[in-house]
Amino acid sequence: MPLAPPSIEGLRPYEPGRSVEEVRRLYGLQRVVKLASNENPLGSSPGAIAAIRKHTSDLHTYTQGGLRLREALAERYVVKTDNVIAGSGSDSIMGNIVRAFLCDDDEILTTEAAFIGFQVLAKSRGVAYETVPYRSWRYDLEAMAAAVTDRTKIVYLANPNNPTGTIFTRKEFESFYHHVPERVLIILDEAYFEYAQDNPLYPDSMAYRYDNVITLRTFSKVYGLAGVRIGYGFAHENLIGHLLKVKLPFEPGALAEAAGVAALDDRAFVHRSLEANALGLRFLRHELGERGFETVPSEANFIMVVFPDVAIASAFTQGLLEQGVIIRPLESFGLPQCVRISVGTIEENKFCIECIDKLTARLPELRDRLAAAGT
Ligand SMILES: *Cc1c(COP(=O)(O)O)cnc(C)c1O
Repeated sequence: MPLAPPSIEGLRPYEPGRSVEEVRRLYGLQRVVKLASNENPLGSSPGAIAAIRKHTSDLHTYTQGGLRLREALAERYVVKTDNVIAGSGSDSIMGNIVRAFLCDDDEILTTEAAFIGFQVLAKSRGVAYETVPYRSWRYDLEAMAAAVTDRTKIVYLANPNNPTGTIFTRKEFESFYHHVPERVLIILDEAYFEYAQDNPLYPDSMAYRYDNVITLRTFSKVYGLAGVRIGYGFAHENLIGHLLKVKLPFEPGALAEAAGVAALDDRAFVHRSLEANALGLRFLRHELGERGFETVPSEANFIMVVFPDVAIASAFTQGLLEQGVIIRPLESFGLPQCVRISVGTIEENKFCIECIDKLTARLPELRDRLAAAGT
């Protein structure tokens, strides 16, 4: 007899992108670049690295569960410490939201092919998981508002969205918000907010606070701390209070917290990262467009490519992998005809395009289909 409930028996685990080392070994390659996990190609915030080094002397003591970081974030964003939570990545906070607020008969509502991290967490809880199709690769917030039922408990929105890179606007969100009852908890996942914040249409959710909205952010992307596991969230103190009850008491770890506190002050690194990303994104979009690929305009640090069919998308991913470029196939998200390419350094982006050119020269079928799709 299976020990796990059907929701766990039938669940596919989260599949991380392939590692550089793995691909090097597998294909006997010298040069391998990973453009698969939306990591910061410039490395980590130097301020955070220095703070991690400095804090190695207190590793024998327990943490205060992220209090120092919560206080620093409260000061930065001019809210109360009671409105802030810190965790081992925003993934961990999402897990706590699922644990704290969902009952067996509740429903989750989100978009088709939502961020895979959320899909896995939500589905592990075994409640109904409802989705609404994209409209031109953007959230269809109107259709989502109409899809809210009496049982909807959590709505998950990522803005900018992963894997499409698109945003919904302040106007769209406000209209959506006013159509959703207050008993529904809205998760606003802003893992990429720094990349989008200068877009005047982007609704920075810290600019206005609603009692049933929780904003999630992370140090994994623009601060370059994905391996450290540190993220945070803002919400009404009642919501944060419930999350504090279910979270592991000593999370985040001491080094992760120290890194987060220091990274917040490392504005130079953030600035450098955003500039490099804007350049790289423009380069990739332009080069891919010139070659007949369909890309989705992105407000984040990655770009989604849409292929005419699944076979071509797979051949593209595999063909790049064999040359040492790891990109993200999106089959597990639910978009098997699409791939996601993270923005790398200038050299990495150029290498990626060179490898694409070698691939299209070798694969006449890919070339013909692109030419046909482009006309
Ligand atoms: C990368 C990412 C996160 C960040 O997860 P962490 O657990 O903080 O590393 C969250 N949401 C989305 C949509 C992401 O792409």
